Amino acid sequence: MDQPSEPTDQAFPKTYVKGFHDDEAVKKMKYSNLGNTGMQVSILGFGASPFGGGYHPISEEDAIGSIRTALTKGINYIDTAPWYGNGKSEEMLGKALKDIPREAYYIATKVGRYQQEITKMFDFSEEKVLKGFEESLEKLGLSYVDLIQVHDLEFAPSPELILTETLPAVQKIKESGKAKFIGITGYPVDELKNIYERSTVKIDTILSYCHLTLNDSSLLDHVDYMKDKGVGLINASPLAMGLLTHGGPPVWHPLPQEARQVAANAALYCQEQGINLPKLAVDYTLSQKNIPITLLGMSSISEVHRNLDVLHGDLTDKEKEVREFILEKFFRHAKQKSWEVVEVEKYWRKLKAAQSQTS
Ligand code: NAD
Repeated sequence: MDQPSEPTDQAFPKTYVKGFHDDEAVKKMKYSNLGNTGMQVSILGFGASPFGGGYHPISEEDAIGSIRTALTKGINYIDTAPWYGNGKSEEMLGKALKDIPREAYYIATKVGRYQQEITKMFDFSEEKVLKGFEESLEKLGLSYVDLIQVHDLEFAPSPELILTETLPAVQKIKESGKAKFIGITGYPVDELKNIYERSTVKIDTILSYCHLTLNDSSLLDHVDYMKDKGVGLINASPLAMGLLTHGGPPVWHPLPQEARQVAANAALYCQEQGINLPKLAVDYTLSQKNIPITLLGMSSISEVHRNLDVLHGDLTDKEKEVREFILEKFFRHAKQKSWEVVEVEKYWRKLKAAQSQTS
C-alpha cells in the first residue's frame, strides 16, 4: 500500500503506552495529524457503530475483544454516538475501555441524533445537547472525550439552529473541559462546509461518510479545502455501510435499489473470480493520499486482523486486475452514486406524518 502523505515522523505516537501496546504493530501503523488539533491519529480508525447492533447483533465478548485488539495494534481513534443502538455502542465501549489506559486512545462521540422513533430521532436544542452529552460520558465511563461532534446536521430544521444554539452548546461542553475539540458530521459535504464557514464557534473537524469508496470518490474534491483551512478531515465508511460486502447492505441502507444492484453485481463478479470485495474496497480507500483518517466499522477480532492485514499488505496482481475491472464495468459510470437529499426529504415526510397523527 502507498504511504499516505504527511505522516507524523515519530516512531511512536503520543498515544503510545509502554507495556500496553504491541510495539512492532505500532511501529508499522501510519499516523497523521488531524487538522490543527495536535491529535496524531492512526490512518485507520475504529468505527463503533456496529456495536449498536445496526448491522447484526454483537456480543460483549466480540466488542471488548475487537477494541482491545485494535488499540494494542496501534489503532488509536474510536468513533461512537448515542444514535448507535440508542446508547448501546457507548455502553459496550464503556465496558471495553474500563481496563485500557485512557492515554492510549482518542475517542469521539456526538450530539443531536438519538433514537429510531421518528419524533425522537433528532434534537439539536441546547438542553438536549447538554443532557445527552452527560449521558454519553456516563455510558462511556469517561470524564472527557477528545472530540464532540454535531451529528448529521443536514437533518436540523434550519442551519441557523445549528449555528445559534447547537454549536454554542457544544462550545459550553468544550469550555467545561469535558471535550477537547469540536466537530460536525453529515452526508452532504457542501452543507458541512457551509456551516463551517458561517460558524462563530471554532470547528476543528469535519466528518463525512460513504464519499470515498469504490462507488463514490467525490470526497477527493474537498481534500484541498480541508487542508487549506486546517480542519481535520475524518472520512468514514470505506465499505459504504455494508454495500461493498458479499452479504450486501442492511435493510436501512439509504441507497435506492437500482444502485444497490450495481454493487451486488460487482460483489457477484468478485465472488466468481474468488476475490474478496471488502478487501478491494478497504484497500482502495486506505490508499488515498491526504486523508488523515478513515473510520471503518468493525465487530470482531478477526475483522480487525483482516483489515489491519489489508492496511499493511498489498493486493495481488489478480486482485488489482479485478478491482480495475469492477471500477470500470460497474462503478465509474454508474448513474446513481449517492443519495443526497433523498434521506432528508424522507425524514421530514415521515416526521410530518407522525406529527399529524398525534395532533
Ligand atoms: P463501514 O463502511 O465501515 O462498514 C461497516 C460494516 O462492514 C460492518 O458491518 C462491519 O462489521 C463490516 N466489515 C468491516 N470490515 C469488514 C471486512 N474486512 N469484510 C467484511 N465486512 C467487514 O460502515 P460504518 O461502520 O457505518 O462506518 C464506519 C464508522 O464511521 C461508523 O462505525 C461510525 O463510527 C462512523 N460513521 C459516522 C457517521 C456520521 O457521523 N454521520 C456516518 C457513518 C459512519
